[in-house]
Amino acid sequence: MAKLILQPGKERSVLRHHPWLFAGAVAHLSGRARSGDTVDIVADDGRPLGRAAFSPQSQIRARLWTFDPEETIDDAFFKRRVAGAVERRRALPDLQEQKGLRLIHAESDGLPGVIADQYGDTVVLQLTSAGAEKWRHAIVGALQKATGCARMFERSDSEVRRLEGLELVTGWLLGEAPQTPLVIDEHGVCLGIDIAGGHKTGFYLDQRDNRLLLRTLAAGKSVLNCFCYTGGFSLQALAGGAAEVCSIDSSGPALELNAQLPGARAQWLEADVFQALRDFRKEGRQFDIVVLDPPKFAPSAAHAERAARAYKDINMFGFRVLKPGGLLMTYSCSGGVGLELFQKIVADAALDAGREARIVRRLAGSADHPVALSFPEGEYLKGLLLQSG
Ligand code: SAH
Repeated sequence: MAKLILQPGKERSVLRHHPWLFAGAVAHLSGRARSGDTVDIVADDGRPLGRAAFSPQSQIRARLWTFDPEETIDDAFFKRRVAGAVERRRALPDLQEQKGLRLIHAESDGLPGVIADQYGDTVVLQLTSAGAEKWRHAIVGALQKATGCARMFERSDSEVRRLEGLELVTGWLLGEAPQTPLVIDEHGVCLGIDIAGGHKTGFYLDQRDNRLLLRTLAAGKSVLNCFCYTGGFSLQALAGGAAEVCSIDSSGPALELNAQLPGARAQWLEADVFQALRDFRKEGRQFDIVVLDPPKFAPSAAHAERAARAYKDINMFGFRVLKPGGLLMTYSCSGGVGLELFQKIVADAALDAGREARIVRRLAGSADHPVALSFPEGEYLKGLLLQSG
């Protein structure tokens, strides 16, 4: 097996079990390895550190599969890792009943480049790294064995694949398209899921707990759900007895998926949220609860500055359409914007909007999106529940 020899000192992050090795950490490759091949990771002093998938085209040059230099990377390894991820979810009581569930959360489940989400009897798989691509058969087989799923669909169409020199791929891996639209039950609410054409693997499972929280707050309230996608927050608010829910997204197909369900208390607007909130302000329209769940403005720290401006604007607009005493539920899903920075941006937005507000709860992703302690980058979703003065 080829060896990837590290620069002096660059073994430190590996010893702390961080799974990524950037190009600058690598001294040289000893032996031959192609994209996705397994290589031994070796410190400058010759000490073996673990085994990784080689990504010659990517700035992340290697992703560690294991920190045990003796562990063999083979079909049995993927069977163990996949079964372990599925078992951990089965061991958490609030995940046991979920019909929509993230089964594999990439690095945080010890499987860099592998995302698997389950919607009823259908699993949607996304492979984003050269190493994951190389082991696709083992991963598919392991997932089928661990879940007994009837169908598996591949959504390996994330642009990050291009950084690894991989084509974008979608299609059925197991079974075929069902005759009826896919619907899951989320806390008693039926949600249509478009696994082939929707965002990510079809749905934002990471916000499940937060949608339930909104439901508990919504009775009798007017709710504005910005960046609503297929209306998950909206349907939970309605289930919780909201008086009216206005939902805004720029994607027509996303809005249409569940729009027929709720009836008269729901308004769906296909619009740019920045513009729509300016218009509401001019009209003097305000809400008891405002949800802001924008897309990833900063995919990495390099985009943080421009993203900060967008987060500040949207939160300022959000405060302005919030009734005095109302609740603002605001999120960032940008890996490049940490909680501390996000909180500062929201504080600036409140100041500019001329509003006082208090944090009543800090919010994060659901338990099926765990964050490995050795991989803080896995904590991309952060949110604040604020009560305005
Ligand atoms: N809250 C949703 C997920 C939101 S994802 C849920 O719980 O399922 C972010 C959404 O923002 C996407 O649906 C995308 O179509 C939408 N979007 C991105 N930019 C937008 C803009 N400027 N105005 C309105 N919607 C936008």
